[in-house]
Amino acid sequence: MSPDVTKRISALAEKYYPEMVRLRRTIHANPELAFEEYATSSLVAETLEKLGLEVKRGVAKTGVVASLRGSRSAGDSVVALRSDMDALPIQEATGLEFASKNPGKMHACGHDSHTAIGLGAAMILSELKNELRGEVRFLFQPSEERNPGGAPYMIEEGALDGVSKVYGLHVLAQADAGTVGFCPGEMMASADELYITIKGKAGHGARPHHTIDPVVVSAQVILALQTLVSRNLDPFAHGVISICSVHGGFAPNIVPPEVKLVGTLRAMSKEWRRYAHERIHEIVNGICYSARAEAEIKIDLGYPVLVNDEAETVFAEACARELFGEESVFRAERLMGAEDFAYYLEKVPGTFYRLGIRNEAQGITADIHNDHFTIDESSMKAGAAMQAYLAVRGLEL
Ligand SMILES: [Zn+2]
Ligand SMILES: [Zn+2]
Repeated sequence: MSPDVTKRISALAEKYYPEMVRLRRTIHANPELAFEEYATSSLVAETLEKLGLEVKRGVAKTGVVASLRGSRSAGDSVVALRSDMDALPIQEATGLEFASKNPGKMHACGHDSHTAIGLGAAMILSELKNELRGEVRFLFQPSEERNPGGAPYMIEEGALDGVSKVYGLHVLAQADAGTVGFCPGEMMASADELYITIKGKAGHGARPHHTIDPVVVSAQVILALQTLVSRNLDPFAHGVISICSVHGGFAPNIVPPEVKLVGTLRAMSKEWRRYAHERIHEIVNGICYSARAEAEIKIDLGYPVLVNDEAETVFAEACARELFGEESVFRAERLMGAEDFAYYLEKVPGTFYRLGIRNEAQGITADIHNDHFTIDESSMKAGAAMQAYLAVRGLEL
């Protein structure tokens, strides 16, 4: 690849910017929820077919996988670039001219722009095809927002076969448009759902000695579960347990038969995640035993911990500096949120990074998952250029 490749990629990102805006607005106006991305994936597949890529539709139900093979030597490296396509069940309140036409559905997490950026990167890389070696594989996946996520199904259906590196990005409302942020190592948490039912013995509230009161037991359980983080986790490590819903009882003088607790467990390491599951069983069962109550514990596994490969993150950060200059690169913070890109990173080294989309002067400050969320669209140039450059450089190594 010629030494002026960063300039050429930036110029190509500029050239395809109007097309990215058109695609993003089309997708934004027609949001589809997890595993229902039919119109979105058709638009994606058609756009990629027009570019002459090998396109596979219907991967993981509504996903698309496309290959761009470089014509320079037969290199067998494969770099994968991932975009997620699903919207959220939110009623949009932005008032934008291209606001959602689907009531109760909205692209409030920026996946419309992730998709347009993925297509923009495909346009840029198609123009560099003669100088590319190896294969760039574009993964347009369904359902990032809803457990169990589209990623495990994409992997099951071969999306990562032969892939040596994988890169993905997510918009960040706290960073200015045109900047990119990186975080080596653990970046996002695992997220498991807890469903605990405390079963006692119902009876008269004035005769508690004839009952086994699940309300008192659940109060003890809720407090004791807080020791999971305060007493069972290295103070230098991170984890959260929150019981977010408590349901039981119906009258002031009746001890109810049971109380249901629902909550979330977030871990930053898979070892502690496993340990926390064990301790939840011990703590809940132990307290129930002492009260002669019974517990039913169900832990629904969510996405795993997202761990960025250290070397790949350093590499990507260096690429960003070459492309945009030092002032546009920041250190991204860890988040206790979860992201199914974690599944790809369990299989293949790579990195997941942040793309700033904020523009205070234009009033673009709302956070993701908010009904006023939108982006400074110029950030898509940086996103597409970055993804394209990572593929170019990643294939050269
Ligand atoms: Zn989201
Ligand atoms: Zn998202």
